[in-house]
Amino acid sequence: MGFFPSRRWLFLLPVLALVLYLGWLGWPLGGGGVLEVTFPEPAIPPLADYAYPQYQLDLSLKPGVGSLAGTCRLQYTNNEGQGLAELYFHLYPNAPIFSAGTREKGSLTVEEVLVNQEAVTWKQEGTLLKVKLPEPLPPGGEAALKLSFTVQVPPLGERFGARKGIISLGNWYPILAVFEDGEWRLDPYYDIGDPFYSDVALYRVTLRLPRRYRVAATGNLREVKMLPWWQKELYFETGPVRDFALAVSKDYRVARREVEGVTVQSFYLPGQEEGGRLALEAACAALAFFQEVFGPYPYDQFSVAASGFFAGGMEYPNLVFVSSELYRPGAEKLLEYVVVHETAHQWWYGLVGNDQIREPWLDEGLAEYSTVLFYEFCRPGGQGKIPGSPLDLYELYQGEAAGGIIRRPLEEFSSELEYSLLVYGKGSLVFVQLRQVLGDEAFFQLLQEYVAEYCYRHATIDDFIRLCRRYTELDLELFFCKWLETA
Ligand SMILES: [Zn+2]
Repeated sequence: MGFFPSRRWLFLLPVLALVLYLGWLGWPLGGGGVLEVTFPEPAIPPLADYAYPQYQLDLSLKPGVGSLAGTCRLQYTNNEGQGLAELYFHLYPNAPIFSAGTREKGSLTVEEVLVNQEAVTWKQEGTLLKVKLPEPLPPGGEAALKLSFTVQVPPLGERFGARKGIISLGNWYPILAVFEDGEWRLDPYYDIGDPFYSDVALYRVTLRLPRRYRVAATGNLREVKMLPWWQKELYFETGPVRDFALAVSKDYRVARREVEGVTVQSFYLPGQEEGGRLALEAACAALAFFQEVFGPYPYDQFSVAASGFFAGGMEYPNLVFVSSELYRPGAEKLLEYVVVHETAHQWWYGLVGNDQIREPWLDEGLAEYSTVLFYEFCRPGGQGKIPGSPLDLYELYQGEAAGGIIRRPLEEFSSELEYSLLVYGKGSLVFVQLRQVLGDEAFFQLLQEYVAEYCYRHATIDDFIRLCRRYTELDLELFFCKWLETA
């Protein structure tokens, strides 16, 4: 065989050129079915004494190998009352749980850090990144950061992981730590509960990926651009949110409905149409009910996405992951329960931020009690006992004459079971009792005021107790001591 091809090959050149040209155009389209729906610019209400951190993420996702490369530009304003010599970020994908039992380990590797376009000293250690600022940033001072990074998604059934053809990207990019009481909160990733705590921020996210993949995400999809070689580029913008999460699959089907100006979207897998429809209905009903009881949901869209993870559900702003196992026939009741619970988190965690590490019961207890309220008002007589729900488990726990203090940090729970029983079960009973003490009118006013006062901010249990005092002459100190501090 010589170096030069025979002349017969020359006839194939025009065909090859045509294939390359069509490929460059991105033809034929993969997937098909429901196209993406774009949304208007999100509302960004100003917040007194707080300049939103502004993230700009530019990402390229290779779903086939579960890897992602990107940059994170952060426009940061020092909102604290003191100068800052450094900034800290969490890199949760480096937690040991994402490397357990798999050859392809989960990771988030920072490759370069620039501050105001200059190289600075930085250090990545486990789930933390420390960035030394070139000079201390005074209160109100601004810094422009640029972080280049790569992410490897592990093949695991976790909130950050790929399974069943769905890439779940929860807590996956460098996110600013919270600075409070004069110090950075550098909590590790705990395997129990939802070990996250973050301030609200604004996000603009550009994501390139193969055309046939569909994406459920936080924020508003603003633009879809077709790129050469079967790629596309999605552009998202968010209102004030605590995180940016997404779920990606080429198998996703989408059902949508409008509820009081909010577009609710259900992303589900083929063969699970009934589950997808049920998830959509539950999300619509819960969103409408909670808006009426707690106050407006101030965003344009809310998505429920089937996820490959094992647990029931996981809340993110404008987006919740729900285990695809629950979309199967026979799990309808639990699917509805989980969707309602996760929707309640849009208020308790999303709008009103809580310290999910030191006071995990506060948002979980209230989200669980909100679910109880949903069944009381929207499914009268139909609640029954839902096997596997936290309330059901708590009754079991009580039946065994066990007890436990719920006001304690994540690290002090010995197992996922103890955590679930106390934080969800006993946590929701606190609100059952409080409603009895305050009466319906005061109780529901209190919840509305809680949202109005702490929307986009953080509230502690002490903040909540302070609000409660406006509604009763009773000594609530004793009430909360009994329910929170005693077993
Ligand atoms: Zn929850």
